[in-house]
Amino acid sequence: MTTCPKCNKDDRIQKASSVYSSGVGTGTFAGPATTMNYTDGKVGVGGGYVSGTNYSISETAKKCSPPDKPQKPSTPLKVWFGLLLGVSTICLMSIPSGLGVLGIPPLILVAYLIIKGLSDKEKKDKAYPELQKQYEEELMEWNQLYYCIRDDILFNPETGDIWSFISR
Ligand SMILES: [Zn+2]
Repeated sequence: MTTCPKCNKDDRIQKASSVYSSGVGTGTFAGPATTMNYTDGKVGVGGGYVSGTNYSISETAKKCSPPDKPQKPSTPLKVWFGLLLGVSTICLMSIPSGLGVLGIPPLILVAYLIIKGLSDKEKKDKAYPELQKQYEEELMEWNQLYYCIRDDILFNPETGDIWSFISR
């Protein structure tokens, strides 16, 4: 029998995953975004106008939310900017009244942006499997967590770990 490590009772405890799913409501939504509204996977920050599917989330469910999934690294903006700058520089160099040899310094910048951008991506690609592994471990742990409504704590009955919400 699972009991809360703080009050030693089981009457007010619930699995974190079910607290989370019961606290997340779905509905069609259009209007000013309030903080912590998830609209089609994006977080609407207060003041903006959003429409679409709205996921409202209760304060308690927020505490029991699963760990954040790491983002797969995408091609950095530097690379796209470098490519765009490169193409436009070459176009300007190729017209008779255009940049000519003056286009060479921008091309050096282009090469720098692309090389730097790609090496940034490589670093992130290398870190990604580690983040993914960490996420899976956190998710596994999250699946074991219980929430005690009385004490406002999360706990893991397997390991005895307790989370309170002072810093979260
Ligand atoms: Zn308790």
